[in-house]
Formats: sequence, C-alpha cells, structure tokens
Amino acid sequence: MWFRQDLRLSDNPALNAAVAAGNIMPIYILDDVNSGKWSSGSASRVWLHHSLQALNDSLDGHLQLFRGDARIVLRKLTHQSPVKAVYWNRCYEPWRIHRDQKIKIQLNEQGIEVKSFNASLLWEPWQINKSDGTPYKVFTPFYQKGCLSAPPPRIPQPGPTRIKYADQASPQSCKLVDLALLPDQDWQKNIIEHWQFGEKAALIRLDKFCDQGLNDYRQERDFPALDSTSRLSPYLHTGEISPNQVWYRMDQESNRIQSSDTTHYQRELVWREFSYHLLYRFPELPEQNLNSKFDKFEWMQNQDQIKHWHRGLTGYPIVDAGMRELWQTGYMHNRVRMIVASFLIKNMLVHWREGCRWFWDCLVDADLANNSASWQWCAGSGADAAPYFRIFNPVLQSKKFDPDGEYIARYVPELADLAPEKRHEPWLSLPEPKKLSDSDCGYPRPILDLKETRARALSRYQRLS
Ligand code: FAD
Repeated sequence: MWFRQDLRLSDNPALNAAVAAGNIMPIYILDDVNSGKWSSGSASRVWLHHSLQALNDSLDGHLQLFRGDARIVLRKLTHQSPVKAVYWNRCYEPWRIHRDQKIKIQLNEQGIEVKSFNASLLWEPWQINKSDGTPYKVFTPFYQKGCLSAPPPRIPQPGPTRIKYADQASPQSCKLVDLALLPDQDWQKNIIEHWQFGEKAALIRLDKFCDQGLNDYRQERDFPALDSTSRLSPYLHTGEISPNQVWYRMDQESNRIQSSDTTHYQRELVWREFSYHLLYRFPELPEQNLNSKFDKFEWMQNQDQIKHWHRGLTGYPIVDAGMRELWQTGYMHNRVRMIVASFLIKNMLVHWREGCRWFWDCLVDADLANNSASWQWCAGSGADAAPYFRIFNPVLQSKKFDPDGEYIARYVPELADLAPEKRHEPWLSLPEPKKLSDSDCGYPRPILDLKETRARALSRYQRLS
C-alpha cells in the first residue's frame, strides 16, 4: 500500500482494497527527484513530517519510509519482497501523473498488478465537462451544471477494522528523521504551535468547525479576525481527511444548521475541484498564463518592495497582517490572500508567479492546483478570473472586513495601541517621520501610493486589450 496524498486510514479506498486482498506493506516515498521544481515547500514539509509520524502511529509503527526516485525505490522493493500488487490512490499534479504512468508500466512488466483509486477528489478531474466535451473555464456552470448534475460523490468508507502486515522491513527504508523534512530554524516552532497534525486532528477540527464555525459560515467567512472558516485546507491537501468525509458531514449538519451555510461550504469545496479540473486540463497552469493575452503584460521587479511584501512591512496594515500571519502560522485567511495578491500583482506590478512561489514555500496548505489557479484568478489571467479592473483597495478592504482592526492588532502589534478605527491608516495618526527611514512606532510608512499605482495598473491592463 503506497501512501501518497492520502495519509489516513478512514475513507481510504486503496487501503481498504489492499487489506481485503491480504497482508500489506505500507510505504511512503519522499520523491524529490521526479517532482523537480514542485518539491514540497518548507512549510508543507514541516506538516508532512508530523503527518507521517501520526500515520505511522495509526499503523502501529509499520509504515516504511523511503527517499528518492519512486521508480527506483519500487523496482528494488518489488525485487526484494514477494509483492503481488501495488495499491495507491491517484494524485493529479502533472509530474505525478507522468511518473505514475511509467511506474504502472514498469510494475505490469514485472507481472505486478497496479490498483488505483480516487480518494482526494469528489469527482475525477476528467469527469465534469461541458456537453461538447470541452473543459469548463467558468466556475458557476462547472458547479451547477457540471458537479450538481453528476452522480453524487462516493460515500465515505470506514477504515479497516484489522490490518495484517507483511512484516519484512526493507533494508533501504529509513527513519522519519532521515527524510530531513524539518528545517534547522526556529521558524518551524511557530508553525507547530498553531496546529495539530494527522487524521485524528483533522476529524477533531471538522467537529469543532461544525459546532462553532459552520453556523453563519456564509456571512462570516470573509472576516479574518473570526474563527469562522474550517482551516481544513492543509488536512485536505495531505489527505488526512477526504473531501467526501467533509461533503457528507455537511449533508448531516444541514438537519441542524441552516442549509445556506452547509451548501455554501460544499460550494467552497467545489472551488477545490475546479482548481483540479483546470490543472488536469491545463497542466501548464502553475507556470503559464491561462489567458495568453497576459503574456505581453509589462511586469515590474522591484526587489526592495518584494522584500517588504515578504516581511509584512509594506506600511498597509491589512497586507502586513496577512503576510505575518503566513510567516507565523503557515496559513493566511482567504480574504487576506486575495488582498495581498492584488497588492503584489496590481499595486506593485509583480508577476503572479513570484507570489505563487512565496506561498508555495510558506503555506502549510500549499497545493499546486489551488495555489496556481487562485493566483491566476487574482491576476486576471486565469479561468473565471477577477476582472483586471478589480483592484482591491487594502484600506477599504480592511475597514470592511476587519472593522475593529482586531486581525491587524493580532499580527501587527506595533499598531495595537491605536484606536481600532485608526489601525487601517496609521499614517494619519502617527507624527510625520523626521527622515524617510524613521518609523515612529516601529511601523513603516506605506511603500507606495495606492492611487498612483492603481492608475498605472489600469493603464497597463488596458494596453493588453
Ligand atoms: P474554508 O473556507 O473552510 O473552505 C473549505 C475548503 O474549501 C478549504 O479547505 C479548501 O479546500 C476549499 N476552498 C475554499 N476556498 C477555496 C478557493 N478559493 N479555491 C480553492 N479551494 C477553496 N488553498 C489551498 O488549499 N492551497 C493553496 O495553496 C491556496 N493558495 C491560494 C492562493 C491565493 C492567492 C488565494 C487567493 C487562495 C488560495 N487558496 C489556496 C484558496 C483558499 O484561500 C484556501 O483554500 C482557504 O483559505 C483555506 O482555508 P479554510 O480551510 O479555512 O477554508
């Protein structure tokens, strides 16, 4: 049983099939060879470390870990052990599809069966298409005409009641620490403090969200100071929970909670499906504009400003709060992700790929499909994208979605002593600095002018058409 992005025992179709067939050897391979530039980023690796530990505990210490090219690891392993079949749940990143196809041929040539299953999507990414067979590029029809009229998602399966293990340990297997997933920096300690890892933690989080956040999800999901979203994204990414478990839990909760909240939550899960549909149909999504008109866009590369954005020192409190939340917790609220992305792409005129890469390294939920599709959505170059003229004003967004400046005060403590209504535009309340570099309360002045940069972005976008 080859675990990949399905690090759980419950609702794991490949695991259930493998257990039903006989003794299993559960393995995980850290394959940084085939992934190329899409090897997991630093924060995801911290998550993976703890998630593998939790999975190994659930498997009573039987998980065997390997590092290297999965094709070579599997070849050696199948020569050393009497393997009849290899079971896995499908992954959909282009590099994994490519690699898995080769591995399947290799194993079949050795006379070993491959059994693969869907465990991470509600619908296969090739399943939902327009009536003429072409892919959807607009979300609402994808959701309404495509997903809601397709057969309902698979009902979650309970995990195996008893697992029998084939107990020969491979000489190439290594210890968790040998995967070297944890960086040698204090930064990871912050992340660890903010999360619990593994399948059990995912189910507890789902319970907690259903008890405390789901009611009014639709109204409150845009307010970053509130604990009103599920924060299940990293668990969904590593497969510590399946989207099916979450989808059907919403159906159950709709007996208790207004259905506008439960269906809205399901709709958000379908955004994830949409990203996978796009990545599958347009594998160049992480690198190239979906709308090639944007290839001619004149981007800028002001390294100094980019550094300020990375560090949460742009002088715009909501942007800085978001970037610091990301650094401190490995997560950023969705509304704020949109604000910081708009700021980078439209006010700073930096290519969306730059932001996409930073998120890839810093997010615990970094996901090739969701991250690429979302950045392109914000840039206007993607499917069903935000129109180019929608340039978020970070001050207005802040006043609307963090009216009491609570989120700002949490992540930008330099501003916590200002009255709540003054936290959105601190430069109006703080004395003029004597020199440009002076920062009176330790908080910088804005690095750019919103009005000017908005006009500049609009004129460049207009030149495209
Ligand atoms: P909830 O509101 O509780 O939503 C439940 C689930 O629905 C999420 O866990 C997620 O799986 C899915 N979902 C919600 N919103 C979206 C969306 N807009 N697109 C796709 N799926 C969605 N999400 C990632 O999982 N990984 C990423 O790398 C990622 N990068 C992003 C980059 C940018 C610039 C933006 C604007 C959004 C990005 N998102 C990404 C989407 C979204 O921000 C996160 O999925 C969400 O914030 C996760 O928090 P949650 O689990 O509390 O969400």
